[in-house]
Amino acid sequence: LAMAGEKIDYVFKVVLIGDSAVGKSQILSRFARDEFSLDSKATIGVEFQTRTLSIQNKNIKAQIWDTAGQERYRAVTSAYYRGAVGALLVYDITKRQSFDHIARWLDELRAHADRQIVIMLVGNKCDLADERAVSSYDAREFAEKESLFFLETSALEATNVEMAFQTVLTEIFNVVN
Ligand code: GDP
Ligand code: MG
Repeated sequence: LAMAGEKIDYVFKVVLIGDSAVGKSQILSRFARDEFSLDSKATIGVEFQTRTLSIQNKNIKAQIWDTAGQERYRAVTSAYYRGAVGALLVYDITKRQSFDHIARWLDELRAHADRQIVIMLVGNKCDLADERAVSSYDAREFAEKESLFFLETSALEATNVEMAFQTVLTEIFNVVN
């Protein structure tokens, strides 16, 4: 973590997208505050949260944007994507439909975002292994075809959430340097 009062070298905007209820707000809450809530309404209305971290001795302020219930098709505005240098494209491993919609989210992201944007496909709720409806194999295959990073996470158990953001932010850092 960066020291209080230290200067910020970079601000990176990262957007969270994916169907409603896949766990976007809880992934953000886990990353920004190391908190998790079973109440999905807890973070509605919050535009973004930030966390400052250090990558190769530079202070990076990650500004993570969350959709405040705008997940209907094409309801996410272009302002949301503007200036984003990274994206977490989230589905729920227990909801097949949320994975089937990923291609559509990816189209929308690519239509609005910077050409160089770093994208991580995220299969959330991997703690619910008994209810799995999307295999890691299918997701990894899709990610490879589309040149995306891929990880399965659990916001509940804090599995790979840190890794997902670290990977995206480090890759963005490498792109700009
Ligand atoms: P969003 O609509 O994509 O922002 O989804 P939320 O973050 O509001 O989460 C929707 C529901 O899924 C809430 O009840 C969360 O507590 C729950 N949830 C989120 N992440 C996880 C997870 O990793 N594991 C489990 N078991 N539940 C989760
Ligand atoms: Mg939400």
